[in-house]
Amino acid sequence: MPSFDYIIVGQGVAGSILDFSLRKNGLHGIVIDNGHKDAASKVAAGVINPLTGRKYVKSWMIDELLPRAQEVYGQLSKLIGVPLFHDRNIIRALHNIKEENEWELKINSEESKHFKADKTELEQYEPVINAAMSYGELQSGMQVHLPVLIRAYKQFLSKYKFIVEQEFNFDKLELHDDHISYETIKAETIIFAEGYRVKSNPYFSHLAHEPSKGEALLIKIENCDPQKILKQKLSFVPFGDGVFWVGSGYEWEFKDANPTASEKEKMIKILDKNLKVPYKIIDHIAAIRPTVLDRRPYIGPHYNHKNIYIFNGFGTKGASLTPYWAEHLMRHMCFKEPISPFVSLER
Ligand SMILES: Cc1cc2nc3c(=O)[nH]c(=O)nc-3n(C[C@H](O)[C@H](O)[C@H](O)COP(=O)(O)OP(=O)(O)OC[C@H]3O[C@@H](n4cnc5c(N)ncnc54)[C@H](O)[C@@H]3O)c2cc1C
Repeated sequence: MPSFDYIIVGQGVAGSILDFSLRKNGLHGIVIDNGHKDAASKVAAGVINPLTGRKYVKSWMIDELLPRAQEVYGQLSKLIGVPLFHDRNIIRALHNIKEENEWELKINSEESKHFKADKTELEQYEPVINAAMSYGELQSGMQVHLPVLIRAYKQFLSKYKFIVEQEFNFDKLELHDDHISYETIKAETIIFAEGYRVKSNPYFSHLAHEPSKGEALLIKIENCDPQKILKQKLSFVPFGDGVFWVGSGYEWEFKDANPTASEKEKMIKILDKNLKVPYKIIDHIAAIRPTVLDRRPYIGPHYNHKNIYIFNGFGTKGASLTPYWAEHLMRHMCFKEPISPFVSLER
């Protein structure tokens, strides 16, 4: 029976980055994934935005998360030979005095002023977008190419036979005091990183998961290739060559992960109002985010089974959260450092 330090179930951004962190630190594991069938990571824009939402609130732990993200995505880009991220300024449309005041207050505050760009310039968006009342711009944003990352990391794992492509079957999991076994694989621990599918995981389904669906359009605008991300009712995230990822809203009630005509119609209405040039829809994509009620991830061992772990609940922020928290879980597993109360299951 092949013997490993760990099995990871799920190879979205969470499973990939965790595997990378454990492997870097000398552990030897195997990943099980069903071919990204349910992956939110294959749909996400991968934006890391230091100030989010309508109130431009500083993202939780962003000052710690950003340097770790830069470091880990940089190392991973080198390993797999594919550039995985871009630094991107983010422009926010301000539609009225209230939004302008709120923006000025937040971007000039002591805790956030280091994110303020020297000047605000629409650049290549200017000829294509109907101007809002005004704009604000922040620096230190990032765009991580999550769909590229999970595809390329899968290739890397396949090359060394470190991945098994199949649906994980809980009936085949056997628990022992000092190890677990799954079919022909023996491992010290198993870590579940199955995104929103954790809802049907018998060990962790009871946690406060609150999955949210999101949909996006891929559109093409001729002769428009900006470097910045623009948020004007929707996010416009440049994918290069005039292609933009445009989205996305939150659906809290849904019957499946498929794209819907109603969301598409909503996005087209917003696009028609905000764009002053023609655009072509290339694709309409959708997925379910692994969101948690208190918007914090779940990380750590199961209460009764110390060799079963969860690494999940990255919600809307998988790109920024996973590098930092993968290192945290690695340090717990390798060096017995405690799990932070912010993310532990006992919180
Ligand atoms: C429209 C949209 C836009 C988004 N934009 C952003 C953004 O700009 N920035 C950002 O940071 N985040 C964004 N997100 C959120 C981001 O997608 C998630 O935070 C992140 O992808 C979660 O990663 P994960 O690895 O936990 O889950 P997933 O990516 O869902 O990966 C889980 C993996 O496990 C596999 N799996 C599940 N169950 C099983 C099983 N039983 N057997 C085998 N394999 C299994 C799945 O197929 C999948 O491959 C967005 C999400 C959506 C939907």
